[in-house]
Amino acid sequence: MRRGLVAAAVAALAGPTLAACGVSVDHDRLQAASPDDTVAGDDFSPEVGAGGGATSTPTTLPPPTDVVIQGDTGSEVNRVAANAIADLNTFWGATYPATFDGAAYQPPAGGYHAVDRNSRPSTLPCQPYDINQVLHNAYFCPSDDAIAWDEEFLMPELAAGYGDFAVAVVIAHEWGHAIQHRAAFDQPTVVMELQADCYAGAWVQYVSKSGSSRFEIGTRELDEALAGVLSFRDSPGASAEDPNAHGSGFDRVGAFQVGYEEGAGRCRAFTVGDPRPYQFQFEGDDRYTQGDMLQEEMEDQAFRSLDAYWADVFPALSGGRAWEPMAEPRPFGADDPPSCNGQQVTGYRLFLCVPERYVGYEVDETIPRAYEMGDFAIGALFGTQYGLEVQDQLQKPPGDEITATLRGDCFTGAWAAAMLPERQLDPAVRERYVLTLSPGDLDEGIRVLLSFRSESDRERQGPGFARVRAFRTGVLSGPGACVDLTA
Ligand SMILES: [Zn+2]
Repeated sequence: MRRGLVAAAVAALAGPTLAACGVSVDHDRLQAASPDDTVAGDDFSPEVGAGGGATSTPTTLPPPTDVVIQGDTGSEVNRVAANAIADLNTFWGATYPATFDGAAYQPPAGGYHAVDRNSRPSTLPCQPYDINQVLHNAYFCPSDDAIAWDEEFLMPELAAGYGDFAVAVVIAHEWGHAIQHRAAFDQPTVVMELQADCYAGAWVQYVSKSGSSRFEIGTRELDEALAGVLSFRDSPGASAEDPNAHGSGFDRVGAFQVGYEEGAGRCRAFTVGDPRPYQFQFEGDDRYTQGDMLQEEMEDQAFRSLDAYWADVFPALSGGRAWEPMAEPRPFGADDPPSCNGQQVTGYRLFLCVPERYVGYEVDETIPRAYEMGDFAIGALFGTQYGLEVQDQLQKPPGDEITATLRGDCFTGAWAAAMLPERQLDPAVRERYVLTLSPGDLDEGIRVLLSFRSESDRERQGPGFARVRAFRTGVLSGPGACVDLTA
């Protein structure tokens, strides 16, 4: 993020509650706490897709006997890949004719290749000059009609960080390029990449809904797959016009979700500008900071931006009623939470105190951990609490926490879009909303929604997949699309 044109007072909120005590909130106690309905919020532990904690087993089947992987060392990632290959051939055998006007589907004639340091380059698809050209990568080679992947580094690292199903999603993405080859689809790289993500999403929809897939995935695997796709993004600040652009994380996750929800026929229609990529360049000093403001500055400015945005936008949503300003937010130490409605708030690290209209946030652990994902991870967390407040002021409580969460995420996306550089061409707007998005900020918003939550959050608030979709809806369609949003 970058600050707008006017330097506002910084650190006005940094009061005595910033004193660190270093004791984290006991997770069991968090779950045992029964929140009363004056408080809404999240408890956190980054379990999903944050690297490390992935233990899911989406398939226990042995590799299908009719799938031959050249260079197979019998590794676990190749077992998953072989199951994906059998599944993808089944899926595309039916989906390709249905999508491409009855044309017959042919499996990749050049087969499947697992690559490691000892592979002979001359035996690999597209005959790389040097093995290092293909290590840490996966690719489809059109001239050989073959798919290859690094079984030594890339796939085990993805599986460790995002679960075994991420391995299958990479194979499905490369398969998307094979489909493009069959369909003679030729567009700039960013369109090719987003369409391949879309085709991968279409297959994952089949996995989760058909009942005849070799994989069994739940919301957790789906969230991990999304986090994996997010990790394939271009470096923030890359241009969508770059001939090698693959899309930002926001774009790629969006294309995957479109394929999942609308199917391969929608992916087929992708072209330049549809979907539009949200990639833009760093401005000014931003490129040196990689677009990250200081944590305390971000805490302060995000609230100022949210206050201004909702004062402007709320009347149009409420039939003309004015926005009731929020009280000063309350940062607190883990052992010293503030009170809400006369009671000390235990069990929440981030919450909205509804009767007193303030956001409370724990600063010993929660905010620093979010900041590690980037400054807008903090902004997005605060944005979700304002999103809950918007619903309260609209006097339209949805009646269940999952819907309230999704609408809050959607309102967060709407606020984020108001900070896109393209929406701030008028300097007065830039000044009023205090902050301007940097490349990578939308990705940080998605990442925090996907990963900054515990299993109990997932049960209460629904899958990360739906939260990311709601956030995207807000970015793409604005706050009006959030008011009646349902899961
Ligand atoms: Zn690709």
